[in-house]
Amino acid sequence: MTSDERQALREKHRWKMNNEGDDRCSGCFSYDYPCDAIKVLEDYELLEKQYQIIFQLNQELIRSEL
Ligand SMILES: [Zn+2]
Repeated sequence: MTSDERQALREKHRWKMNNEGDDRCSGCFSYDYPCDAIKVLEDYELLEKQYQIIFQLNQELIRSEL
């Protein structure tokens, strides 16, 4: 997923505040905050961050063994 795609997804699933206590996602109309789409996106970003850390550690390990 590119950062543009992520940004578009965030934009689509914006939390919409309503005066009548009818706050919900403007993308999937879910009352859960954050909605499932945003939860999946956040999980994805977390995994990607963890992957980058592991990748970097691995590179350092390879370098130290040379
Ligand atoms: Zn949503």
